[in-house]
Amino acid sequence: MDNKVRRIVIAGGGTAGWIAAAALSRLLGPLLDITLIESDDIGTVGVGEATIPTHRTFHHLIGIDERKFMKATQATFKLGISFENWGQIGDRYIHSFGQIGRPNWMGDFHHIWMAGQEQGIGGSLDDYCLELKAADAEKFATDEKSRISYAYHLDASRYARFLRSFAEPLGVVRKEGKIIAVNLDGESGFISSLTMDNGDVVEGDLFIDCTGFRGVLIEGALRTGYDDWTEWLFTDSALAVQTRSTGPAIPYTRSIAHDAGWRWRIPLQQRVGNGLVYSKEFLGDDEARGRLLELIEGEMLTEPRLIRYQTGRRKMTWNRNCIALGLASGFLEPLESTSIHLIQNTIFRLIKLFPFSGIEDAIVQRFNDQCTVEVERIRDFIILHYKATKRNDSPFWDRCREMAVPDTLTHRMEMFRRHALAWQDGQELFRVDSWVQVMMGQGLIPEGHHALGKLMNPDQLRRALDGIRGNITRTVAALPSHQAFVDQYCPAMES
Ligand code: FAD
Repeated sequence: MDNKVRRIVIAGGGTAGWIAAAALSRLLGPLLDITLIESDDIGTVGVGEATIPTHRTFHHLIGIDERKFMKATQATFKLGISFENWGQIGDRYIHSFGQIGRPNWMGDFHHIWMAGQEQGIGGSLDDYCLELKAADAEKFATDEKSRISYAYHLDASRYARFLRSFAEPLGVVRKEGKIIAVNLDGESGFISSLTMDNGDVVEGDLFIDCTGFRGVLIEGALRTGYDDWTEWLFTDSALAVQTRSTGPAIPYTRSIAHDAGWRWRIPLQQRVGNGLVYSKEFLGDDEARGRLLELIEGEMLTEPRLIRYQTGRRKMTWNRNCIALGLASGFLEPLESTSIHLIQNTIFRLIKLFPFSGIEDAIVQRFNDQCTVEVERIRDFIILHYKATKRNDSPFWDRCREMAVPDTLTHRMEMFRRHALAWQDGQELFRVDSWVQVMMGQGLIPEGHHALGKLMNPDQLRRALDGIRGNITRTVAALPSHQAFVDQYCPAMES
């Protein structure tokens, strides 16, 4: 095969760089020569520890063993995210990874449940989702036959090392050092090579920019441009700190809103990742630091680290012969743990559209169009958390409540408010049940619904609802605690 794009250069060795290296070497290895450049002096962003269920698909497709991975990265299981104080102070809801009830082709389960509510039949919507109830009870188990939907909390630095140990034996060549120049071909404007601080010149046919927020290739050299989304997602700062665990690990991420943003709590096997997300227009750095230190539990293992960011995305993910991956491609709030998923999906998209016979505009266009739809729908889902709120206790929340949101989101919110209609179109990540859990959880309660629940008489409806709820209650009761399961299934290899 006359393979015109053979030499792949991955610039950067954080989560993005090593995911790209692992996937390309495992799936297309014999067809490619892969080099990865990373700088120990610059290091990685060091956050990004909560994932979503597609992470399992990624591992499955590249052949990573779950237990081995969990032991090496001190990982725990994640069944969803607990959102606290978002709709109103004192509120709590779980956005879980599970299915709610049993959907019907005519309409989703929540329509049936709403018919029950009108007649005083059935429990809360939460009662019909196994993953949600298991999370709330801090229980978990899985085996080969289990259909429970879950993801992981993992140690980001260990994960990059784990992927490196997977990719290097598959032929990926790692070069340590700083990229000091990106050399362009005078005629085509394509990147021809990267110059390193030790004088090495690394040539390539296709370059994957995984240099983090710096975007050394995609922006520094190619001036691709950035779509700024701060009018909707206006937090711009995060303070991250690690603490020693003080109790059993819970199987969900906590996202707790405060008056100028929110904070996360991500439980690993031996430590907890904590962070405070805020907008510096509404909260000073010193105050944010004080607030974070006051709220964390357990001995501090690292000093709080300040990370500044700008929400938005590169105008093109693929520009000339460069593809931006991870933070180099843009940044959405970490609220729904979508960044690592986007890295994985983008690399799979590249594999599916791989330009073996040369880079052509039509391929690049298709790739970019798919990336745009995918990330814009995720953007809308994240904005929803800020927009659908009744909080009026601070200027930050006043701005969130009152802001104009993208038309695509306005339409969704309106369709749900009026008719309880939610949907997942092609290229969209979030399922109907995700939209329903978050919209309801944020206090967006529909006025009407599909009448399919009324096709059953009250006895039939009660039996149908009680049957599902009873099954879930029994299943959750039989599960071990999450911590007990982790201890026997995948205890961390080192502290
Ligand atoms: P980095 O980790 O910054 O890696 C950049 C690499 O490029 C490094 O190896 C660096 O050495 C190298 N490099 C840079 N410049 C040069 C140069 N000139 N020469 C040589 N090498 C260079 N994602 C999730 O999915 N879940 C989460 O819970 C989550 N939480 C987050 C919380 C915060 C506050 C932030 C900011 C992000 C979060 N993310 C999360 C996103 C996640 O951290 C990133 O998507 C992921 O870590 C990938 O980062 P990266 O590899 O693109 O960049």
